Amino acid sequence: VKVSMAQMMDILRDEALALAQEQYDVSFYCEPGLDVYGNELQLRSVCSNLISNAIRYTEPGGKIEVSWRKIASGGLFSVKDNGEGIAPQHIGRLTERFYRVDSARSRQSGGTGLGLAITKHALNHHQSELNIASQLGKGSTFSFIIPPNLIEFNQQDGD
Ligand code: ATP
Ligand code: MG
Repeated sequence: VKVSMAQMMDILRDEALALAQEQYDVSFYCEPGLDVYGNELQLRSVCSNLISNAIRYTEPGGKIEVSWRKIASGGLFSVKDNGEGIAPQHIGRLTERFYRVDSARSRQSGGTGLGLAITKHALNHHQSELNIASQLGKGSTFSFIIPPNLIEFNQQDGD
């Protein structure tokens, strides 16, 4: 089934702005005409978890950048934050069920540690995997690429 990513990004933006409570600088970019053949509920829950994590693990006043764009190898979704970051020894384990880094914010935030395990599973269904780049104290970027065979791109003329 074709998922309208422009529509989904609108919903995600509303959700993000509500979560951010005007305490974060939230920016969204959505490539026009770039859609995915896949499961809408799964894709939305993936993106929604990555965005809520970025807000949850970033101090108020921080910056969250969400983007969906066409690249040579498919459709790239990414969420970048300038929050607490993740130490290298934890990065490989984040998609394990119930795994949480025991940072001050994790202790406070009371998540279950299931979000990224579900995310990994849902991305597998879309021939994709989660990429995590992070620097402790500087921030993190969570991203995934949907391969060309699962995307449709109708380039906009822009005139
Ligand atoms: P939930 O099940 O409610 O999503 P959770 O957010 O703790 O709970 P995950 O989404 O799986 O669970 O994330 C696992 C852990 O990875 C988090 O507890 C946190 O320690 C770390 N983490 C995830 N995203 C970020 C981020 N953007 N910055 C820093 N740490 C993060
Ligand atoms: Mg989470």
